[in-house]
Amino acid sequence: MASRFVSADIKGKFILLGTGTSVGVPTLGCNCGVCCSRDPHNQRTRCSAIVGLPEGNLLIDTAPDLRAQLLREKLGIAHAVVYTHEHADHLFGLDDLRLFQFYLGHAIPLYCEPAVEARIRESYSYAFSNVKQTHAGAIPQLEFRPLGTEPIKILGAEVIPLRLKHGPRFDVLGFRFGDIAYCTDTNEIPAESLERLQGLDVLILDALRRKSHPTHFSLEEAIEMARKIGARQTYFTHISHDLDHATTNAMLPAGMSLAYDGLRLSLS
Ligand SMILES: [Zn+2]
Ligand SMILES: [Zn+2]
Ligand SMILES: [Zn+2]
Repeated sequence: MASRFVSADIKGKFILLGTGTSVGVPTLGCNCGVCCSRDPHNQRTRCSAIVGLPEGNLLIDTAPDLRAQLLREKLGIAHAVVYTHEHADHLFGLDDLRLFQFYLGHAIPLYCEPAVEARIRESYSYAFSNVKQTHAGAIPQLEFRPLGTEPIKILGAEVIPLRLKHGPRFDVLGFRFGDIAYCTDTNEIPAESLERLQGLDVLILDALRRKSHPTHFSLEEAIEMARKIGARQTYFTHISHDLDHATTNAMLPAGMSLAYDGLRLSLS
């Protein structure tokens, strides 16, 4: 049977593809209540999101679960990728971008900072070698586009990068699209980024677990930061198996809840 290209239309939507910490939930080899839970909200793939912008779908990070995430959301294509940082749980689904070069008719644009580009060039050296390919599509076609903290137009929309600290010595980026901001893998938000987070409708913020952590907000720290930023609604992401969806939500302050895979928000 002849196949044809299909993809759900997500224009105007912001979808949380994955909301789990780097090892995912359930966690391999664990039989805790959350890992054994029947609540689908406790099944968390690695952190990623996709945004339906005027000129296409912008993927935020390429998590190791990328293929399963896009299949779940019936998405056949991403038109560009923007990276928060180069950690493995945000990067190593990259090879799954290979198909999109056929649908796009060109290399897929990757917006990232120099450290992310360097890691991609090193980890995916086969995508940048001069060796002739055995067949079309054998390697991903990638095109780097520079990204810093200056607002930038991507796929017909203004994207505002937000400098975040992921531990004391590691810089990552969050992103604001209209009145929605996505800030994962952080435990400190510098003043200049807090200014850019004024007047938010929805904030998506890192909250790993109850206990403190050297590079992620704990739940308590995340609640405090969410109060300071004051979005109408805050969703917590990058969640470990320490936090059960229903019982955690029941104790969270009004206007705050745990995110979950597949959560859909509307861009204003
Ligand atoms: Zn991460
Ligand atoms: Zn567990
Ligand atoms: Zn990280």
